[in-house]
Amino acid sequence: MNRIFSGIQPTGNLHLGNYLGAMVNWIKLQDTHECIYCVVDLHAITVPINVWGGPEVLRQSTREVTAAFIASGIDPKKHIVFNQSQVAAHAELAWVFNCVARLGWLNRMTQFKEKAGKDRENASIGLYDYPVLMAADILTYRATHVPVGEDQKQHLELCRDIAQKFNNDFSESISAGGYGEGFFPLTEPIIQGPATRVMSLRDGTKKMSKSDASDNSRINLTDDADTIAQKIRRAKTDPEPLPSEEAGLEARPEADNLIGIYAALIDKPKSDVLREFGGGQFSTFKTALSDLSVAKLSPIAAEMKRLTQDPLYIDAILADGAARAEAIAGETINAVKDIVGFIRR
Ligand code: ATP
Ligand code: MG
Repeated sequence: MNRIFSGIQPTGNLHLGNYLGAMVNWIKLQDTHECIYCVVDLHAITVPINVWGGPEVLRQSTREVTAAFIASGIDPKKHIVFNQSQVAAHAELAWVFNCVARLGWLNRMTQFKEKAGKDRENASIGLYDYPVLMAADILTYRATHVPVGEDQKQHLELCRDIAQKFNNDFSESISAGGYGEGFFPLTEPIIQGPATRVMSLRDGTKKMSKSDASDNSRINLTDDADTIAQKIRRAKTDPEPLPSEEAGLEARPEADNLIGIYAALIDKPKSDVLREFGGGQFSTFKTALSDLSVAKLSPIAAEMKRLTQDPLYIDAILADGAARAEAIAGETINAVKDIVGFIRR
């Protein structure tokens, strides 16, 4: 059986990178797979409290991300939408995985290095342990596939390493328990589409991020038409006209990024976009990109606004999703307890 799991942190504003890199694929996968989509609030608090915003902001962001899922076309009745902290199994399994994962594996994780920056001694243990919790999120549901942006590739490799080591360490217990060769699947990432790594509008070598201090670096799903137009107008470019062939985008990260965003939004290859805009100035293309972005994002923003006005409705969706997630998670955690040798009721 194929099962999808993926999550987004309720920190800061959801942006075009989250939408194109992850959510667009989430929506498509609903037709063919059983999907579990999670607002990963336990992950959100790994950064300093002034960054995630404190309790009131966390509640608000959790509801806003949930609203974004639904507004973009995720069906919370057919599939599962919930916030991570409502299912204790994630944290429980993360502890077991903490004892499976090796320090050397985590020391290689580039996201930690980037997020901790120079002040590594002052980073939270949670930020360091983030990929282990992420492996627990995925494997709590024994998910086979995880649709994510390119930046999460390394964490998915770690998830497979953890699953493999667990399966090896406990192989006898796993087969004695009737679980066959391996208990956990070796989960594959789904990194696809023309925008697996949307870059910052201010710096074509840095990924667009919720946590970037500059709001001008990203297009938020909730930005209004004027803000979107202004951010795109100010987006960094180079002085050359746009190329007509894809090869001409090499070594031009900003041009490549903007063309990639347009292509992803209109669901066509970059070559088609270059056929239309190649040889022209950035200013003409930027106007077209603004119009397209507004046309695609404003219905989502309007629906998000409508949904967030009814927090009780959102909370009910999360509660219902959490109850259904818990039923699956409970089976995994009970099996893990038996496999590891924990006595349970
Ligand atoms: P933060 O900076 O706080 O880590 P983020 O923007 O990276 O925020 P996450 O919640 O960490 O957002 O990631 C949610 C999903 O969005 C993941 O699947 C991730 O791979 C994807 N994603 C994030 N940024 C981009 C991007 N710039 N391009 C494509 N996908 C992205
Ligand atoms: Mg991230």
